[in-house]
Amino acid sequence: MADVYFEDGASLPAHTLFCIGRNYVAHARELDNPVPDQPVIFIKPDTTIVHDGGEIVLPGTSRDVHHEVELVVVLGRGGRYLHASGALDCVAGYGVGIDVSARDIQTEAKRKAYPWTVGKGYDTFAPLSRFVPLNRVPDPQCLQISLSVNGVQRQQGMTRDMLFPVAHLIACLSAVFTLQAGDVIFTGTPRGVQRFVHGDELEASLAVAGGEVLTRLRVRARDEG
Ligand code: MG
Repeated sequence: MADVYFEDGASLPAHTLFCIGRNYVAHARELDNPVPDQPVIFIKPDTTIVHDGGEIVLPGTSRDVHHEVELVVVLGRGGRYLHASGALDCVAGYGVGIDVSARDIQTEAKRKAYPWTVGKGYDTFAPLSRFVPLNRVPDPQCLQISLSVNGVQRQQGMTRDMLFPVAHLIACLSAVFTLQAGDVIFTGTPRGVQRFVHGDELEASLAVAGGEVLTRLRVRARDEG
């Protein structure tokens, strides 16, 4: 089982990795997808987790692997049928992650009305930064996420532009699943998703809007084999 790490060196065993699709209007539109009226939810296996300094392994079965930088939430406790008003009390920390996506495989799955699991679930497809504790994040909707490839910025977004804010996502997830400590939630990507290739260096960051950088994630991509 994979762990998630905090800035102070503490760790927590990762449980389920929940991911939210199409949570920023500009990203839904860039891929010609409708804007959803409720959160789009999918799950990745914990074998997708890699940490700061690690590698994304590009599978030989895809020719179009994309980065999706996202605010990531880790829960310190869970529950069922949580109300949005108290849902943030379950959060243990915030980090930044990349929802790595084999877009050609996902697009084919969408066309056939198959699940997205294969295109989203290869080993190493969920790089995670170290997490920062709650006292450094008074409001998860006042954060900035960004991603650069080889030093050139490709994505930048403000969490205030989420269609469904973090508290609402936790409440929605808990209406279906019993949430547990160690659950990790990828909260959706802003616009600017693009292909990356063997040898690329990806750097993602999470910052207070207009303020200090809270945590960074650096990973390198390499071809399988
Ligand atoms: Mg995503």
